[in-house]
Amino acid sequence: MSHDRALGPNADVASVADRMLSPVAIIDGNSTLLYINSAGARAIGREARRLVGRHMLELIHRDDRARVREELRRVVADCGEGGTTTYRLRAGSSGAWRTFESTVDNLIDDERIGGILVASRDISDQVARERMLHEAAYRDALTGLPNRNEVNERLGDLVRTEGPLALAFVDVDRFALVRHSLGHSIADTVARVVAERVRTAVPATMLVGQYSGDMLALLLTGQAANDAREVLWRVLHRVSEPLFVGGHELRLSVSAGVASRCAASTSDSLLRDAGLALHRAKTQGGGRLQLFEGSMRESAVERLEFEANMRHGLANGEFSLALQPIVSLPGGEPIGSEALLRWRHGDRDIPPDRFIPIAEETGLIVPIGDWTIDQAARIARDAPGGRVTVNLSARQLAAPDLPARIARILAARHTSPSMIGFEVTETLLIEHFAYTAQVLSQIRDLGCRVGLDDFGTGYSSLAYLRRLPIDFVKIDGSITADIDADLQARAILGAILAMADALHLDVVAEGIETQGQADTLVALGCRQAQGFLFGRPQPPD
Ligand code: C2E
Ligand code: MG
Ligand code: MG
Repeated sequence: MSHDRALGPNADVASVADRMLSPVAIIDGNSTLLYINSAGARAIGREARRLVGRHMLELIHRDDRARVREELRRVVADCGEGGTTTYRLRAGSSGAWRTFESTVDNLIDDERIGGILVASRDISDQVARERMLHEAAYRDALTGLPNRNEVNERLGDLVRTEGPLALAFVDVDRFALVRHSLGHSIADTVARVVAERVRTAVPATMLVGQYSGDMLALLLTGQAANDAREVLWRVLHRVSEPLFVGGHELRLSVSAGVASRCAASTSDSLLRDAGLALHRAKTQGGGRLQLFEGSMRESAVERLEFEANMRHGLANGEFSLALQPIVSLPGGEPIGSEALLRWRHGDRDIPPDRFIPIAEETGLIVPIGDWTIDQAARIARDAPGGRVTVNLSARQLAAPDLPARIARILAARHTSPSMIGFEVTETLLIEHFAYTAQVLSQIRDLGCRVGLDDFGTGYSSLAYLRRLPIDFVKIDGSITADIDADLQARAILGAILAMADALHLDVVAEGIETQGQADTLVALGCRQAQGFLFGRPQPPD
């Protein structure tokens, strides 16, 4: 080893290197630049002669220095064993950091080179591409949160380690209605705010990811997993605080389902159990926190079967409509009928209160509902009273093309819109007032009558009743049940009648079973009624 000669490349090597397109540098054992070719000088944005004599590490991004120093040290020590290293350099005129990959060879003893050869190429574009691919693969584009892939991977890692672990799913109830009523851009903003609220409501070390659609996943470990219930309450509370976007004040209802690790847990079982718990929270009305319980698994299997049966039943003619007359008082002549769905499966009649909630959850209510409207349109002319009202559920209203579909069905059946009416329940309206009101008024514009069902069971307020585009209200059977005996019930009915009268709404009293109830209705001035006294729901023929 002769270090007495001048270090650095000889003229031949330098002139070849200067013609190369990628950066080449030669440094000494202390990382001082002995030579840099013109491509290298261009990459750094300074003349080569100003760079020679400077310490190579000075030019490198602060965060990369220690690593590069270590790699250079190893190459010097290993005498000749080459290595590859990557680092960032601030690039010439633009001043942006660019990433280089270099092979480093100790050629101090090579007469022609006389130093450590650092041959580099700019891999910034490749790095940027890889980062984008990684982001696309592991980040949610809308909220920037880790996505399903990342959650699944982390969950897999955590399941393999010891310690408390809980997986929670958090989901805004009826978010589809927010999308339909306020539009996608506001809904996207809402989704981002929700994501941020959830993220900041849990300890920073917990993973919060965007699992699917609008549903978030939380991975809780350590104390947070032991306190899952408290942590999730905080989350639900935080998300349901009022939110102001695009001139709207929203109060979101959110549900959460939580599964905690037990001895037999796997990633899959935790994902399934948290999903089942969330589902239970939703079917119980939402705005709830539900911890997983073993019994949910069996009921999930039953539900799947039930859903498949319903699908089959619709295709195989197991569904039918029953018509119940709505009559005028005091005479009792039919002025219309309500269509009530019936399902005969095998030798059993399955009541609507049982299958409609499941049809709503699964979305099957939309095709079933279309079928119902179509049948109602078919039989309206011959129905008692010559017209039929059909019940609509939340899910049907959420599908944005409902008014158009109704128009198509009526046209295909050559049925006048005046022969068809629709009933929606009150609770639905309260939550998504503006949107529901708009859809109802479109249906009304077709020429169909529209009314509120089960009035008196929810928030029944004059304030919103006034603003609703409706023609009638139906008073729930729970209010009319005792009107002949209970003074208070009678007073409530009287108040509703007065209110409806002021708003020019028809009132139908439901659930009338006795002559005593009917007499009280007449005395209070109620002119329309429905109930077993006047006729039970019956097949159309
Ligand atoms: P609803 O719309 O309030 O319908 C009135 C319910 O009260 C019907 O029950 C009817 O049979 C029952 N009823 C009528 N008169 C009397 C009476 O005098 N006494 C008593 N105790 N009950 C009476 P049903 O047919 O079991 O329907 C239950 C609910 O299922 C309906 O309540 C409605 O919300 C829903 N539903 C029925 N058909 C459909 C449908 O086609 N689509 C949708 N979305 N929901 C439907
Ligand atoms: Mg009804
Ligand atoms: Mg009702």
